[in-house]
Amino acid sequence: MSALILDGKELAKTMKEEVLAAVAEFKAAHGYAPSVAIVRAGEDPASVSYANAIRKTFEGAGMGFALHALPESASQEEIVRVVAGLSADPNVHGIMVQEPLPKGIDEAVVKEAIAPQKDVDGVHPVNTGRLAQVAPAGRPAGVLDFFVPATPAGGMEILKRYKVELAGKHAVVVGRSNIVGKPMALLLLRENATVTLAHSRTADLAGVCRQADILCAAVGKAGLIKGDWIKPGAVVIDFGVNFVEGKMVGDVDFASAVEVAGAITPVPGGTGPMTNIMLMLNVLQAARLLVR
Ligand code: NDP
Repeated sequence: MSALILDGKELAKTMKEEVLAAVAEFKAAHGYAPSVAIVRAGEDPASVSYANAIRKTFEGAGMGFALHALPESASQEEIVRVVAGLSADPNVHGIMVQEPLPKGIDEAVVKEAIAPQKDVDGVHPVNTGRLAQVAPAGRPAGVLDFFVPATPAGGMEILKRYKVELAGKHAVVVGRSNIVGKPMALLLLRENATVTLAHSRTADLAGVCRQADILCAAVGKAGLIKGDWIKPGAVVIDFGVNFVEGKMVGDVDFASAVEVAGAITPVPGGTGPMTNIMLMLNVLQAARLLVR
């Protein structure tokens, strides 16, 4: 049996229409567009191409975009000064600091210079802390107005729009980075899944994965997760972006997984296209928070 394909590309197209309408409504109401500022130090090729992709998406949607590209030699003080300046600028609604930062820069200090209400990447400790403290779905939420990193938010949106039941299910997330794996685990926990967060030191990773009703991969290792690691009928969300002989592949071995899973995101065309859409939504949310 072949799995249902969770078509992130198609979903992103639909959601883009929704975002365009919301942006137009915001502009009509306030007379200016939601805008994002990206800060980069150095010319890491992946960061450069990600920033270009964001510029294209944002400008295409009539949203503001500004790139603050500092040299690789920029000091921590210079980077913090730029980020703090953007944090204080009322014309900037969302701020993203691209990683990797040059050697010797303390990323934690730079992240803390982002105003939490402009932190559209969800990396400031206030936002990560609020996500960690959020009430489970269905209970009165004591913690509001925080940002979730766009990639896991996109994975959750795929699960939501495809109406995948999460409450009471066993979700396994492989990968514990602050930007993908860890927030994904917290978001699944909020939806009342029972969550296992696996990583490079997890014993019997294949056995752990086989227990998953929902299996999420955020590792960065091409084809790590094989079809026989997947419980028949499980829902598989693959965040991996890897290149093998010039071809983009996920962390899940798609050919074998598609025969076992109940539903699966392809790579490309799964979680990737959702990321920029969720970022646009985060910037829109930031602009709404800052309405003056
Ligand atoms: P990181 O390198 O920051 O984290 C990778 C995680 O995988 C770590 O927690 C690491 O464990 C774990 N890991 C590494 N090797 C193994 C292994 N053999 N078995 C089990 N766990 C392992 O990566 P990111 O979270 O930033 O990215 C993960 C993937 O998602 C990458 O392919 C990246 O390109 C992709 N990505 C996709 C995006 C999208 O839009 N779809 C956006 C951002 C990233 P440990 O903590 O023990 O070291």
